[in-house]
Amino acid sequence: MSTPARTPFVAGNWKMYKTVAETVKYVKEFRARVKDIGGVDIVLAPPFTALHAAAEAARASNVALAAQDLYWQREGAFTGEVSGPMIREAGAEYVIVGHSERRTLFGDTDDAVRQKVGAAFAAGLTPIACIGETLDQRERGDTFEVLDRQIRLGLDGLTSDQLAQLVVAYEPIWAIGTGRTATPEQAGEAHTHIRGRLRQWFGAEPGEACRLLYGGSVKVANIADLIAQTDVDGALVGGASLEVADFCEIVSRCRPAAV
Ligand code: PEP
Repeated sequence: MSTPARTPFVAGNWKMYKTVAETVKYVKEFRARVKDIGGVDIVLAPPFTALHAAAEAARASNVALAAQDLYWQREGAFTGEVSGPMIREAGAEYVIVGHSERRTLFGDTDDAVRQKVGAAFAAGLTPIACIGETLDQRERGDTFEVLDRQIRLGLDGLTSDQLAQLVVAYEPIWAIGTGRTATPEQAGEAHTHIRGRLRQWFGAEPGEACRLLYGGSVKVANIADLIAQTDVDGALVGGASLEVADFCEIVSRCRPAAV
């Protein structure tokens, strides 16, 4: 039986940029410009403060919302944290987990990623789980070992159904916000390795269904070559998602040929 094609997935990670007013202005313009782009899952990840306003502005459009992180408890004395059910209520369908900035600046471990991925599913959110190696690790030849560890520990305990729904973002840390993109061959090789491990550890069907995004200095000029790689199903875009025109063009270039 042939595997159904994976729907391309493009998410914009705004990090700590944009006020509520800036968000609403962006979403209104963006939704109008991408309304005829079919066959691509389109997601914006504004800061927590703008999530609800973004969801309202995107209502009844083909644009979905993601939060940039979550905490694994439902509620409690966890000052500064936000839970899965709160994010769901605010109107998001997705949540980014284990972004390298969370790992390096805020101490998120693989075990924290595992708990957050579980909490996201429990709240009815689809996690976008980020993995990737540092430049040192790549230069030492440890890239695949690092990815294996992040997959094994961060995704431990997921069911086949959850794995099939999950989105994984391969984001080499040396390419994030640096302007230095992985070559299409480097991205393709890492994605094929990740897909192989997901098939091996979770089963061929869910491993084949899971969408794999590339992230790291994606821009209009390089998206076509990246998305052309067999196991690259889309992109997690930081800087280039802050401008409506650029992000629309990136989304548009991820459209499947037949749509
Ligand atoms: C990111 O924040 O996930 C990212 C990939 O950033 P940039 O596109 O700016 O490198």
